[in-house]
Amino acid sequence: MSQSGQAVAQIALPVPLPQCFDYLPVPGHALPPVGSRVLVPFGRRRLVGLVLGHGESQTPANKLKAIEAVLDEGLIGPDLLALHAWASRYYAYPTGEATQLLLPPALRRAKAFRAAGPNGFELTPAGHVAAAEETSKRAPAQAKAMDALRQGARTKTQLTEHGIKAATLKTLVDKGWITPTALIETMSPVPGPTLNAEQSAALDAIVSKPDGYQAFLLAGVTGSGKTEVYLQAARHALDRGLQVLMMIPEIGLTAQLIRRVESRLGVRCHVYHSDLSEGERLSCWQDAMAGRAQVVIGTRSSVFLPFQSLGLMVVDEEHDASFKQMDGARYQGRDLAVVRAKSLDIPIVLGSATPSLESLNNAKQGRYQTLVLNERPGDAIQPTWRILDQRGQHDGLSPELTDKIAGHLKRGGQVLLYRNRRGFAPVLMCQACGWQADCHRCSAHMTLHQSQQRLQCHHCGHQSPTPRRCPSCGDPQLVPLGTGTERLETVLSGLFPDWPVHRVDRDAMSGRHDFERLLAEVKDGGPCILVGTQMLAKGHHLPKVTLAAVLDVDQALFSGDFRAPERLGQVVYQVAGRAGRIASTSGQVSEFVLQTRHPEHALLTQLCQGDYRAFAARLLDERQAAGLPPSEALVLLRAEAHQPEAVIAFLRSAMAPLAQAGLQVQGPIASIMPKRGGYWRYQLWIQAPSRRALIDGISSTWPRLYDLPTAKKVRWHVDVDPVEL
Ligand code: ADP
Ligand code: ZN
Ligand code: ZN
Repeated sequence: MSQSGQAVAQIALPVPLPQCFDYLPVPGHALPPVGSRVLVPFGRRRLVGLVLGHGESQTPANKLKAIEAVLDEGLIGPDLLALHAWASRYYAYPTGEATQLLLPPALRRAKAFRAAGPNGFELTPAGHVAAAEETSKRAPAQAKAMDALRQGARTKTQLTEHGIKAATLKTLVDKGWITPTALIETMSPVPGPTLNAEQSAALDAIVSKPDGYQAFLLAGVTGSGKTEVYLQAARHALDRGLQVLMMIPEIGLTAQLIRRVESRLGVRCHVYHSDLSEGERLSCWQDAMAGRAQVVIGTRSSVFLPFQSLGLMVVDEEHDASFKQMDGARYQGRDLAVVRAKSLDIPIVLGSATPSLESLNNAKQGRYQTLVLNERPGDAIQPTWRILDQRGQHDGLSPELTDKIAGHLKRGGQVLLYRNRRGFAPVLMCQACGWQADCHRCSAHMTLHQSQQRLQCHHCGHQSPTPRRCPSCGDPQLVPLGTGTERLETVLSGLFPDWPVHRVDRDAMSGRHDFERLLAEVKDGGPCILVGTQMLAKGHHLPKVTLAAVLDVDQALFSGDFRAPERLGQVVYQVAGRAGRIASTSGQVSEFVLQTRHPEHALLTQLCQGDYRAFAARLLDERQAAGLPPSEALVLLRAEAHQPEAVIAFLRSAMAPLAQAGLQVQGPIASIMPKRGGYWRYQLWIQAPSRRALIDGISSTWPRLYDLPTAKKVRWHVDVDPVEL
């Protein structure tokens, strides 16, 4: 006869172990409901955890510890707990990550959660009387606040904008003249343009079934009006009293988007990302929960926000790799958004000029409905495409390109040059003996940063002064090989002294405000050259750019990463999308240029047909033929350590249990960058006849890998649907 066990709460804790931990209730109390935030003793520490379930433990009661305090009862709702349960199984991450994903940082500490106070103030009856009275004796700050509130209730934000301080408001609350009140901030919306036929068709599809799940893939070049479609779809959700989440890859250039959303929808936008202060994150989180946040713009972590009544999700630039979390819980925010939309039974729109093969495959399989915007409003002319041979060029610019740049500048156009390498030169070499400056911690060259006279490793951050002589043979002739953005800036400034050259990369731009300022200046300014990295390629509106170029595509042509051609295609089409926006208005012909040392390469010929989706469809066929994602699911078991033998030993010992679970395992294989930051990195490639079999096999096996003796000597994790190798 089985003995009935102790009733316990199963609690997720922020510790690097796969399981939940059992705790007895606070003495004299019932078990806290699932979703409660609790404080528990753990070893010698006290930790904040989340109750994920109730169960019975066979451990004797005197061996179990009790919950010390229930901080918030039932804080996290069932929909988010279910999303997390799904994600932790699918992405094979420790359950304890729940505390990181479902709680904003301020709630991961023992301090009790205070529900956000209302966001505004109004006069009390006594306040109305006081406000009507003689005010000469009143402090001016208080008089100002009372005056502002005589017109009606105001939000804290509005009061702050009037220069009214929180301390003044507190004094008035203490006097009983004003009281906090909950307000929804609205402004009068500015009407948008009338949608063209394609946009209307897309909008109709999205809003046709507002109470049901459907995923849409909205494919349209930059400037084709995707954002207008998002905004009008959001309008429909807001009109029905529902909230809207708009996910974006990075917070880089959101100021423009926020202004646009606010003015068009007439509501205050809430923002959620990891650069915010703890207080700001907490307040957005609370506003989402209270339903006050009507529109949230957020990065991948916003997929776990506790919305009260979410009605629409949008994932913009859905192809962007930043939606994948690369440490801790390695989830794909875009795909998880689809899972959440499905469980909430609401529509979701994934938008991109260059959709990921994953989403294109989902559309091909009928899981997503494709909506296409082919035309650019007011600008139907596509730029002409050219491939230029850069063989024999040392400074990174072919003579034809230099001529073109001069021509465009003289005709009043702006020029955008993309080179995904910051610094002066990617290699520093000794001509005498062939020595190259390498990072001793990574399998990579050090990049020369000339203005700082330093060598920098872009992978681990290691830096050293530029040597004056070759450390190997003593020769003083050290030559920089190749070109980074810093060198291009120097070369271009020399070639075109009459026009401004702006460099856009992490070194030149100290923060996103710098960048926003530059963009605003360029948008309204005269001819100039912009040279920069990935930062520059992402969707901004630079209406005066008539020549855009990708300066070096060759690395991607010969990469060992099967995703390299897809990424190249995305960058090329994103950059090409910068040119041609003004063609019809100015009469200027826009051009797009690809520079390469392999002008005959088949991939480039395919790219230059000018149709991203046709290009991507071909790549998808190739992936299918090769049994690669997204046609076949892939999981990596990755491990790293200072000793490569330890890594290989661990991965070898993991192969048997994985194979026993019916999985096909290959490896150990070195990562594309075998050594990084002093760690040697290897991986197992794991596949199975079906995605379901793969996830089932992984989820039943990976928690047992902690028990392997070899596991103690390495850092390891499971990466489901990896985005880098
Ligand atoms: P995307 O999000 O695809 O890059 P946007 O929605 O930002 O495109 O549109 C690009 C520009 O075209 C914006 O300035 C927008 O206001 C304008 N626009 C979009 N749709 C229309 C339309 N139907 N009529 C006129 N202008 C439009
Ligand atoms: Zn040398
Ligand atoms: Zn390094």
